[in-house]
Amino acid sequence: MQLLFPTDCTSAEYLKGKLWLTVEPPACPFCKAPSGDCQQEPCGLVRHGFYDRVEPEGTRIRRFRCPSTGRTVSLLPAFLLSHRRGRVKSVEDTVAKVEGRQREQRERTGKRLAQFQLAEWLRPDIGLAGGLRWLRPRLQVVQFFLLCVRSLYPQQCPPSPEAGVCEFRVFFGTGRVLAELRRLAECELHRLPRPLGLGPFEQCAAALGEPFKHNSGLDPPARGP
Ligand SMILES: [Zn+2]
Repeated sequence: MQLLFPTDCTSAEYLKGKLWLTVEPPACPFCKAPSGDCQQEPCGLVRHGFYDRVEPEGTRIRRFRCPSTGRTVSLLPAFLLSHRRGRVKSVEDTVAKVEGRQREQRERTGKRLAQFQLAEWLRPDIGLAGGLRWLRPRLQVVQFFLLCVRSLYPQQCPPSPEAGVCEFRVFFGTGRVLAELRRLAECELHRLPRPLGLGPFEQCAAALGEPFKHNSGLDPPARGP
């Protein structure tokens, strides 16, 4: 099971400080009483090695083990995507760039650019098909995550149902709005689809009504020592 390590540090700071070595164990998610009112104490997770992320190179994720159930927990720093390569901020910046380009295009011509035009503009280095494979999941996961968080917390989100990353950034007064929304939705993250939530991405596919290909490289936990 993954839990989010709620840190404000950047990936460079995490790497430089080797924060996976010093991070404290969270409360055990397996030993918590389901009703929430039982007297059972959380077990006290024990350290259980690490696994390596493919990107950013050298980054490690701390794992813990529940001595009562034998199940493991990995503590994913808040700046990383769940089970997918890459950082939350870079996905957010890509979507903000697309929104900015669309706004500019609309003001100039009254029309929007097609997704393949955006893909060619953003990733001329990998060809049209590669660019689309690169761009589509990024747009989908961010749009779906914004939709989910807005449905859960309508009072704490921009009023417009069309609001994208740029409007959310203005509303929250930050350039790291996805990190902010992960914090806001902390209690619901296991019900929200990966890679921004921590739940299964099949939920995302079902909601979007089309196959959601996990084609940017898995980052599964290796077995800890
Ligand atoms: Zn436990």
